[in-house]
Amino acid sequence: MKFLSIVFITMFLMACNSDKQTTSNTPENNKTYTLKLAESWPSNFPIFGDATKKFKKLAEEMSNGRLKIRIDSKNKHKSALGIFDFVKSGQYDLGHSGSYYWKGKDINTLFFTTMPFGMTTSEQRAWFEYGGGQELMDKVYSKHGMKSIIGGSTGNQMGGWFQKQINSVEDLKGLKMRIPGFAGEVMAEVGAKPINIPAGELYTALERGTIDALEWVGPSLDLRMGFHQVAPYYYTGWHEPATELQFLINLKKYHSLPQDLRTILTTAMKLSAYEMYAQSEYESAKNWANMKKDYPNIQVKTFSQPVFDALRAANNKLLAKLASKNPLSKEIIDSQAAYLKKARAWSAISDQSYLNSQSK
Ligand code: CA
Repeated sequence: MKFLSIVFITMFLMACNSDKQTTSNTPENNKTYTLKLAESWPSNFPIFGDATKKFKKLAEEMSNGRLKIRIDSKNKHKSALGIFDFVKSGQYDLGHSGSYYWKGKDINTLFFTTMPFGMTTSEQRAWFEYGGGQELMDKVYSKHGMKSIIGGSTGNQMGGWFQKQINSVEDLKGLKMRIPGFAGEVMAEVGAKPINIPAGELYTALERGTIDALEWVGPSLDLRMGFHQVAPYYYTGWHEPATELQFLINLKKYHSLPQDLRTILTTAMKLSAYEMYAQSEYESAKNWANMKKDYPNIQVKTFSQPVFDALRAANNKLLAKLASKNPLSKEIIDSQAAYLKKARAWSAISDQSYLNSQSK
């Protein structure tokens, strides 16, 4: 009996072992997949570009070299805003960019970066992961043969650099401001003149008065742009409370990968997105301290309540217009609004109460 047991155990172990051998020797498991990624950013762009480098390192290491990621920055592919088409067509397998850049191609891509008066990063990430956000994003991007995964948050962005103080809604009328996306439309609704200008020309445009104001990101990336040298007022934010970049994946390529590599790919994306948010917060705090120390003349301002009220009313009007035109827009707007209502009540009683009690 004992002998038989040993025979059975030995046979069992041999079976397990041969199973293992078969699994690890399948051609699929030895195959190396090279995926090409196009990013919107120039080579070595801080923080945003660090996120793609971290993603590459993680994906290659976790897959033990079965995934190889080749990153092409803007300098190489020459089209910062071409990422959507690159990945949709399969010219690139992956992308790293911002979903709100594609609203001209599909209006419903607008909602997955950040919305004026919308969720903060912690609220929005909860919506993506548990509140139906990822499912809605899948619904939008699958129509284009793509999948999108969060790609790193800048955190709450500053409202921008202004040449003159904004005391009332009247001061916004005719104001020439670089402010892209839905926030630009909101500004136009209250009488401002939003324009989009490439990053490299922003400093000169503000210095020469081609524009009266601009928004970029916040201390993490604004300091090196030098805007504080040409505009005295730095306003707090309202228009991009949770700017989340995105990874794009060509779905045909995604489904051609074995399941473990698909999981490694999306896990590496989420982990680098997590790290980019931490890096953004770290750099913002560090640079904000430097700005206060080295440039004490920067005047930090917050819009008055009547200005916020006018912007919020314009925002709500434009959202209602979008919802009436497109059922999927309505579904996303309703999902975000319903979740924000619950999340904000909790943020108010948790983080906000805590921070208020600390500042007194
Ligand atoms: Ca911005």
